[in-house]
Amino acid sequence: MNLRFRTRIALFNAVAAAVTTLVVFVVVYTVVYVTAYQHLDDQIRSEKEEVIYNIHWKGDSLLPDLMSEKLEAEHRQAEVSPTFLQVVDSKHRLVFKSANLQNDHLLFADLLTVPVFFNIEFNGKLIRQGQFPIFNDSGQLIGQLDIGLPQAESTLILSNLQLTMIIAFPLMLLVFFMVTSWAASRGIAPVQQLIKTTGKIGDKNINTRIPLPSHKDEIYQLTCTINELLDRIEVSLNREKQITADISHELRTPVTGIRGNLEVLIRKTREPAHYEEKIRGVIGDVDSLNRIIDQMLQLSRLDAGNMTFSKTAVGLRDLIQGIKERCNRKLEEQNIMLEVEISPEVTVLADKGFLEIILENLISNALKYGSSGERVLCSWNPKENDLSISDNGQGIPADQIPYIFNRFYRTDASRSSQVQGTGLGLSIVKTLADLQEINIKVNSAPGSGTTFTLHFNS
Ligand code: ADP
Repeated sequence: MNLRFRTRIALFNAVAAAVTTLVVFVVVYTVVYVTAYQHLDDQIRSEKEEVIYNIHWKGDSLLPDLMSEKLEAEHRQAEVSPTFLQVVDSKHRLVFKSANLQNDHLLFADLLTVPVFFNIEFNGKLIRQGQFPIFNDSGQLIGQLDIGLPQAESTLILSNLQLTMIIAFPLMLLVFFMVTSWAASRGIAPVQQLIKTTGKIGDKNINTRIPLPSHKDEIYQLTCTINELLDRIEVSLNREKQITADISHELRTPVTGIRGNLEVLIRKTREPAHYEEKIRGVIGDVDSLNRIIDQMLQLSRLDAGNMTFSKTAVGLRDLIQGIKERCNRKLEEQNIMLEVEISPEVTVLADKGFLEIILENLISNALKYGSSGERVLCSWNPKENDLSISDNGQGIPADQIPYIFNRFYRTDASRSSQVQGTGLGLSIVKTLADLQEINIKVNSAPGSGTTFTLHFNS
């Protein structure tokens, strides 16, 4: 059943109220019932106290002639509400009955040694009957005294109470349901407002935020949470837009280069050396495209989060020596010395493949942005468990350091320089380092070089 929230709340409350009220009604009814019958029984007992002195016996026989007159007289005095009296002997013979019993008699069962009280129907009326044993002087059970009192008064009270409860119960539930439903609808009004406002937020107005309610309650917390969620969605939408713009921009540069070179070649016949020069230019641009595509693929695999890795003890010196050999040509071209101050036994706990990508990017950047004729130093600090890669190059201005790990970010100096780059390398480095819980720090100042420090936890 598709019930509205406020109806559900009201229903839950009404059911709870119904159960509680029912329990209260049953308790009240039981108490009144027991009290009414106790009262009747007390009346019967006091009647018995009055008439018992008028019962006479000799040996084990009751003497009806002696007591009939006195009993009748006693009985007549208490005639305000009709009291039925009868005396039965041990042989179940009726020895006396009050005149108001006429041709009938009260119920008499086996003689009992203790008084008992029970309900009977007499001439269509409910009667409360008390049955008292009669003992002679030697304690022998010689008969019983039966006293009956009409229950009309108690029955009236009980049936009135029953009727009141039967009418009051559904009425009370209805009123309770309506009041709770009204209170619940007032209570969820801010939520409905929230739904309305949130529903209006889309791609176009993603910067809209929901106004915070004045009371710092759950609705306030929900509104804050939705606003925070909108913050994150806005950031990721903007980042997506930015990335698309950056990709187009980065791809356009090499594509324009390729087109320019080919147009020059097609315009007229040229010397072989000219062809060679332009074709080298085209190859350079194609390499650049390749690099962007490679790095973007790496990043999208990392973003997908399905890269598995396993940490093992990796020998740092060997790993860096391998990278150094692959960079030999660059080192020679740029006349840069790559020094490795790491003992052969130093190992770190990391995924070898991922660590290689990190170090390759950092060393390649140190060579790209380092100064010709200077050196790049890879050193290990055993006390801190830190690996540093330092160069003496152009450095990074302090205000641009916070952005260098962003995708496609390049410092102003790099953009305007001839140094080729995509701005993706450091974001790959950061993602891979975070994945392995390797802390990465940058220390740089324009003109005095840059140091990237990797801190390994173990
Ligand atoms: P790129 O392909 O441009 O090198 P990266 O993501 O590797 O992209 O680096 C981002 C930017 O950070 C670079 O463009 C450069 O401006 C700056 N950078 C990175 N490493 C260094 C360094 N060792 N010295 C100076 N600047 C650096």
